Amino acid sequence: MSYALVVGNGAAGTFSSWLLAKRGWEVTLVGRGTPSTALSTGCLRSGPNLCRAEISEFLNNEKMPWASGQREGISKIGTSYRCWMSPSHSTWKEGETPKSIAVVGLDGHPSLLPRVVSAMLNGRKIKATPFTIPSQVPSDVPLTSSFRKDEAWEGLAEELQGLSAEAILLPSLVGLQDYHRLDQLEGRCGRNVLEAITPLGSPGQRLADLMLSKAAEAGVTIWDGRKVTALDVENDAAIGATVVGGMDARHISAEAVILATGGPLVDGLVLKERDVSDPLGKFRIVRSKFPLTGGYDSLNGMLINIDGRPMVNVAGAGDCLSSGSREYGSGLTEALENAYRAVRALEGT
Ligand SMILES: Cc1cc2nc3c(=O)[nH]c(=O)nc-3n(C[C@H](O)[C@H](O)[C@H](O)COP(=O)(O)OP(=O)(O)OC[C@H]3O[C@@H](n4cnc5c(N)ncnc54)[C@H](O)[C@@H]3O)c2cc1C
Repeated sequence: MSYALVVGNGAAGTFSSWLLAKRGWEVTLVGRGTPSTALSTGCLRSGPNLCRAEISEFLNNEKMPWASGQREGISKIGTSYRCWMSPSHSTWKEGETPKSIAVVGLDGHPSLLPRVVSAMLNGRKIKATPFTIPSQVPSDVPLTSSFRKDEAWEGLAEELQGLSAEAILLPSLVGLQDYHRLDQLEGRCGRNVLEAITPLGSPGQRLADLMLSKAAEAGVTIWDGRKVTALDVENDAAIGATVVGGMDARHISAEAVILATGGPLVDGLVLKERDVSDPLGKFRIVRSKFPLTGGYDSLNGMLINIDGRPMVNVAGAGDCLSSGSREYGSGLTEALENAYRAVRALEGT
């Protein structure tokens, strides 16, 4: 078996595509829309028990170094955020909280509210001082688009020169291409530069971009903006799929499939009231009181068909699988781990 179709462009789909391509498979990755991965904080909440080395290699990127171990950071509303792996400027080693932090916001922009965050930090006995710098960025414009040019970074460095705190907490300002600018800023200011932990913003998009680029580098063919609308199944095996995008609809054959279509938030599962169901109508679902934990049933990585038999060439990964341990705001580690399991399952067939 050498050709695989992977459905879903988030952490689970990109990692499984990358793993398969590195093992010599020809892979097509079909994905559409914004994955939850791009909405996340871009930090892995827990340490993986499986495939740690592969995850590190997959995430390795010269533009954005990672820090791992027990880490702590500050969320954009000033609360503590703990995780196991994060981009280098997001967190510090647990137990090494900076003695003093300057909380820097941009005038009129809601990305980080210095007074609110400082009050939260002071309440947690961390010495924090609010600081606002002048800005022309309209409140509804993401800061990443305004911090692409050298002049913007020059201006920021100058504004921050006089601050005496041990660390400077900034809103999230950079996409993947510009991450190195935080190192440069740290060098210019001579203080630790920290990025507030921010969901629904550039850190998650950075992670999704990084993952997609790694899959592409490994030789995966990426069909972006397309949706798999049907799977053809014969005798417990998938034999083909219908892929639709714009005005184009085509049928492709499939020797092996990984479904990594995400949860109800991204339409990977259909949510009706509190119940989830399979949009493809082919696989068994484990129902749960909480839609977050319901999803596809699986056995040793393979999905179970509606007659209760394990598929021979369709594996599942990520948020579309049922999981008793999934919680709000975590799931990246589990998505990566069960993407690895899905690949192992296909290789065992
Ligand atoms: C606001 C928010 C914050 C979070 N913060 C964290 C965090 O800090 N740390 C953490 O570990 N986790 C966090 N999570 C959870 C984490 O983002 C998810 O568990 C993880 O990204 C799931 O990855 P996935 O690949 O399974 O699914 P997704 O990333 O959702 O990818 C699935 C993709 O498949 C696409 N798709 C669905 N159906 C089809 C189809 N038929 N054809 C083609 N494509 C299809 C979807 O549109 C979607 O783009 C957060 C989640 C949210 C929403």
